Amino acid sequence: MCDLKKIESFIGKHKEQLRKLGEKYPERKSLILDFEELERYDNDLADRLRATPDEVLVDFNDVLNAMGVLTMVENPKFNVRFKNMPRERGYTILVRDITAEHIGKYLQVEGVVNRISDVLPKVSKALFVCNRCDEHNWIQQDKRMLIEPSRCRSCGKGDFRFIPEESEWIDVQHIEIQEPLEMLKGGEQARRIELWAEEDMTDEVTAGDKILVTGTVRLKPPKFKGSVYQKFIEVNHLEGIEREFEEFDITDEEEKEILELSKDPRLHDKIVGSIAPSIYGYNEVKEAIALQLFGGRQGKILPDGTKARGDMHLLLIGDPGVAKSRILQYVDQIAPKSIYVTGKGTTGAGLTATAERDELADGAWTLKAGALVLAGGGIAGIDEFDKMSKEDRSAMHEAMEQQTISVAKAGIITKFKANTSILAASNPKFSRFDNYKPLAEQFDIPPTLISRFDLIFPIRDILDSEHDRSIADHMLKMHRSEELEEIKPDIDPELFRKYIAYARRNIHPELTLDTSDKIKEYYVQLRARGKEGTAAATPRQLEALVRLSEASAKLRLSNEVSVGDVERAIKLTDFVIKEIAYDAATGEFDIDRIVTDHPKSVRDRLRTIEDIIRELTESSPDGMASMASILESTGEKDIDKFEVEKLISELKKKGEIYEPRHGKFMFTEE
Ligand code: ADP
Ligand code: MG
Repeated sequence: MCDLKKIESFIGKHKEQLRKLGEKYPERKSLILDFEELERYDNDLADRLRATPDEVLVDFNDVLNAMGVLTMVENPKFNVRFKNMPRERGYTILVRDITAEHIGKYLQVEGVVNRISDVLPKVSKALFVCNRCDEHNWIQQDKRMLIEPSRCRSCGKGDFRFIPEESEWIDVQHIEIQEPLEMLKGGEQARRIELWAEEDMTDEVTAGDKILVTGTVRLKPPKFKGSVYQKFIEVNHLEGIEREFEEFDITDEEEKEILELSKDPRLHDKIVGSIAPSIYGYNEVKEAIALQLFGGRQGKILPDGTKARGDMHLLLIGDPGVAKSRILQYVDQIAPKSIYVTGKGTTGAGLTATAERDELADGAWTLKAGALVLAGGGIAGIDEFDKMSKEDRSAMHEAMEQQTISVAKAGIITKFKANTSILAASNPKFSRFDNYKPLAEQFDIPPTLISRFDLIFPIRDILDSEHDRSIADHMLKMHRSEELEEIKPDIDPELFRKYIAYARRNIHPELTLDTSDKIKEYYVQLRARGKEGTAAATPRQLEALVRLSEASAKLRLSNEVSVGDVERAIKLTDFVIKEIAYDAATGEFDIDRIVTDHPKSVRDRLRTIEDIIRELTESSPDGMASMASILESTGEKDIDKFEVEKLISELKKKGEIYEPRHGKFMFTEE
């Protein structure tokens, strides 16, 4: 039997699909067949499709179009597309493994959409009218450049005009995919490749989607003269696939190892000891990161229908040189899926997502997915968090709470999923903490963003010889080869990655009545710890406590949150609150300090100064309060001169008072 006959009988087997195809035309134009089924039907034919797709796909299309499928429209034009090439025989390859030998071959790749252009019209059959004799010359277009006829087929002259209105057009879309982060080994750069999709394969996916693509590898000539060509894939079929952690093939043997490890009485210590073992100290930070890697329960729907975020966000804020960056980079290496970026270095789309004009689609609008979208389901380490651009900062609010990123620009309105945990590092406002000022006043991050972090760790570089000696010992040890053994992580990194993936995929811990009571009790007591009239905690903290407890259960591979899990969450929360919200002057806790612009004490002092000025203006003959008299009164109240000047300039900035004469202040009349 010749190829065409075989093809006809293979297509003919799909009667139901063919009938539907006819009914749905022209909305649907493609007959989508299964590659594995073709292999079973005729292995040779399947091999030929992989080796010479240009011939075999054309044969398939010709045969289908000649079969006279019944449609409502005359002269339908169908395409045959194949999906589902078996992975195990190497038909699915990584972008990095596409080499010169694959050019012109048909294969399958998997990737995450990193950029995607608008759907653009492309000439498929161009009409050129001869300027001499008006003859119509039709030219089939399948190159990137518009091909003109060399001479008129009637008069033989070479002078034409292109008639776009009467030419035939098809939709095209340029897509760029990159290797899925979870397929990369720690710190590796993801490789990218361009895809060209046409007709009904356009508008099927969006930036951030993980997709499976079949198609033919082609070459794109350089724009300028040169001999280095770019590869791209002419898409035959593409579809979105599920995202989280399905990459991790966990064998029965490995599952046994994982379950065994989960029963280890030292499990918790071992896991914490496997996070940045070369960094000395920071046990609470490491513990929090361990919990972040597992995350809270995913996909929980609250009674009001909103989705509760299961991902946890952490912030390390501290002096330079305290190993913040190192910790982030370390987490990038051990997390099953992660990305490390810096807020400063990443431009525009680097972090969140944007729409911009770029060369991918010859200057048309392109959607670009940034780190938070690409790391969906994993962790994004964002260094220099305080240095990110304004656009990113505003997108970050939405990304951290709703876990989506919206882009509305140039008529493109779209929303990406960004279920990503954020591990951020940042310096204080004046790059180093000032020991004489309250910590919370030194965060260079808006309070609205700060409040979205589950835990915040201030890290001060304190002069302490005992501590310095220990760090030095630890660091020097790493430089002595005979002791390398000692700082090995407690759990083999490969097993650790699989352990996390296993837990995230299979464990969905729930609170019991006992454990939720315990959380409630702590929360109520935490709120009561605030100063009069303010709360020491917000409902966000309550959610954070739940997430931390759930993560602790997940870490033990338990579907039930235990009292011990809640205790662990409380211990961490307490530690963090003591670090930031404790007001040494009053002995009280004031979470308001970090989640509103002014800590309670500053607001109090502003009000005090205002009262003083009001009193003075009312009692003085010229109706003004002089700096000297203000200082006299504030001195009694123990507010120092420097602080008074700052508070006064603050009141001036807010327009509450003004300075009609040097050193004299009045209230602005309403
Ligand atoms: P940061 O990002 O906080 O400014 P880095 O991560 O660049 O600091 O760290 C500076 C250097 O100091 C790194 O080489 C790091 O390994 C070292 N270092 C600082 N603190 C510690 C520590 N506790 N244990 C081990 N190394 C440390
Ligand atoms: Mg740094």
